Amino acid sequence: MHDACGVVGISLNETANGAAKSIYYSLYALQHRGQEAAGISVHDGKSIRTHRAMGLVSEVFDDAQIALLRGHVGIGHVRYATSGRSCIENSQPLLVKYKDGAIATAHNGNLVNSTQLREQLEEAGDIFYSTSDTEVIAHLFVKELLHYDLPEAARALMRKIVGSYSLVFLWGDTVLALRDPLGIKPLCIGEIDSGFMVASESVAIDTLNGKLVRDVKPGELIVIRNGEMKSYQLARSTRPAHCIFEYIYFARPDSIMDGRLIYDVRVNIGSNLAREHPACADTVTPIPDSGITLAVGYHQHSGISYRECLMKNRYIGRTFIMPDQNMRETAVRLKMNTIRPNIEGHKLILVDDSIVRGTTSRRIVNMVRKAGAQEVHVRIGSPPILAPCYLGIDMASRDELIAAHKTVAGVEAVIEADSLGYVSHEGLVDAVGIPKENLCMGCLTGLYPVPIPGEKCLAEQTRLSEYLD
Ligand code: AMP
Repeated sequence: MHDACGVVGISLNETANGAAKSIYYSLYALQHRGQEAAGISVHDGKSIRTHRAMGLVSEVFDDAQIALLRGHVGIGHVRYATSGRSCIENSQPLLVKYKDGAIATAHNGNLVNSTQLREQLEEAGDIFYSTSDTEVIAHLFVKELLHYDLPEAARALMRKIVGSYSLVFLWGDTVLALRDPLGIKPLCIGEIDSGFMVASESVAIDTLNGKLVRDVKPGELIVIRNGEMKSYQLARSTRPAHCIFEYIYFARPDSIMDGRLIYDVRVNIGSNLAREHPACADTVTPIPDSGITLAVGYHQHSGISYRECLMKNRYIGRTFIMPDQNMRETAVRLKMNTIRPNIEGHKLILVDDSIVRGTTSRRIVNMVRKAGAQEVHVRIGSPPILAPCYLGIDMASRDELIAAHKTVAGVEAVIEADSLGYVSHEGLVDAVGIPKENLCMGCLTGLYPVPIPGEKCLAEQTRLSEYLD
């Protein structure tokens, strides 16, 4: 299971320069959303220049690269594969040239009808360079731009693509941002020194010392040119379907999404977890890093001491060579070590955000037991993950999801915990503060906000999108 991508678009007024540097810093702030590949496209006054490569932002760019990307407008992307293979062809921004110009595309999300759309395009003679759904979007958009003016072309595109999309385009010297009518993946607008930006999360705006203006609305198109911003509401749905997992795990705790600070949401989840699943223990401890804020909430509500018992090594890069089987224990310890004196003889409440396959919880319960824990009570800040995500998370298949096949008691036995408690759906929704009808909880319920072949999309959950004139 990997998280999806991060996108950014920046347009400074014409006298300003150095959009690439600002995009580069923003991508650093969004690195948690994808570590597989990174890229930046800028418009240098004549054409679009792109640099993208596999790796972390720090590995892909250096001063010389950034200096070559001259211009006051551009977009950027960090990628974790959700659709298409992990290879340079699928990295973004993806550039498509056509007779009237060129367009670079950066996408966070996943289309559920890209196979059909691609087949139709291929039958009509289109040739694809990558296997990602982003290229399908780019081809469709270019075709619409040949026939319609901008807002109409974007509306026509939205009518064809189904799924989640927070898109940022560089179209000549114009930045466009388009959010799907259900607002599944996040996208926000910021005001920065001499211009505007759009980004997956507000932390990118903070990094540039900018001001969060607001979220891009579901179904809205934002157009930024020469430091000026315009908005077109192209579609409206009966109900939005914001991804619940952004609140549980993906987004950084310092991001503000839909007016909510993610940190506060997670503290609330932890506190609801403590209310719903108390445990007789003396220490609350997180599985770092994603369990930290949840554990703070659990500690605040229960009054049980908060103490860190596990230390994560944050410097294990992608290039880390996995040791052979008999060094596996070393590898695990290298990534995460126990603070033995905080554990020995203690009854622990171990807090994490989610159990996917059960591997992490099981391994860590085992580690803290070896370090002398007397009891280990596992508490999870999401309800059981029962179903795959088709809308932007590269989650495990249904076969691999432990909660799809086992009861809570069954999972408890597999991870060898003394007790296991998941926050309830109500506890989670209450903590987020958005009505459940306005959230996508497909991975927790198996009910999706868009029709997906072989899956349930209950009538009452179906959000009809109306395309406004
Ligand atoms: P598992 O070991 O398969 O049960 O996965 C659960 C662990 O993966 C938890 O510690 C989560 O913090 C972490 N996790 C949850 N969602 C993701 C994701 N999308 N990408 C990477 N790790 C994740």
